[in-house]
Amino acid sequence: MSPCQNCHAGCCRSFAVSITGADIIRIERELKLNFWDFVCRWEDREGLITRGQAPQFYFDDEPEVPFAICLMHSQSQFFPQSTKCRFLMEGAPDRDFPLGEARCGIYGSRPSACRIFPTRLSSSGQIAEIYDIPSHGRHEQLPIYELCPRPWIPADLDPVQTVEDLVVARFEQLFFQQLARVWNKSPQSWASFPDFIRFVYEKRLIRKTADELEAEIPATIPFFRAA
Ligand code: SF4
Ligand code: SF4
Repeated sequence: MSPCQNCHAGCCRSFAVSITGADIIRIERELKLNFWDFVCRWEDREGLITRGQAPQFYFDDEPEVPFAICLMHSQSQFFPQSTKCRFLMEGAPDRDFPLGEARCGIYGSRPSACRIFPTRLSSSGQIAEIYDIPSHGRHEQLPIYELCPRPWIPADLDPVQTVEDLVVARFEQLFFQQLARVWNKSPQSWASFPDFIRFVYEKRLIRKTADELEAEIPATIPFFRAA
């Protein structure tokens, strides 16, 4: 049985989930949501959210402040002293499950960061490694922020899907870092960020003529070349 079965999902309550432009585009399209319905920027001066992996973005209203691009949180219905991912569906606490059961409300469209938890790609890029999870996801030792009830083992995960998810996550993270380098050269407003994201990702698909294919002209997003 998966550790997530019957869990209150302390992970989806504890962490600020960094998302990429690809996550944003997919959630907008598949769930017919608008950027402003689920994306937020969180100050990340100490890098505790991005952890040197997700990019930090700057904006013209606070040019000295690095921000992480994340999923929004909302107040928990049953534990109002705590917050949770705005997509987490909470069940009411009862005698069997005093913290309630909870599940992801956008499971098929969830961001890469959620798909790969709690694994990382080995340095060879060929193997998924499961890492240890702490007892709590936040410094506040509230029971609702408790994490997995037992350590994860390889049998809990699909070895094909897990590695595929990790490879996609790494690719999208590298692409989003390139995008951040371009954006941060001349930071614009937070209000204009969604249009920038849509503009860039639309440019990821092109058609090449036979001559261009023959000449093997490498295709890149135009303004990435200078980044
Ligand atoms: S998107 Fe789903 S899996 Fe990811 S944090 Fe939110 S509820 Fe949890
Ligand atoms: S805290 Fe661990 S067991 Fe619970 S939902 Fe999250 S990943 Fe699954």
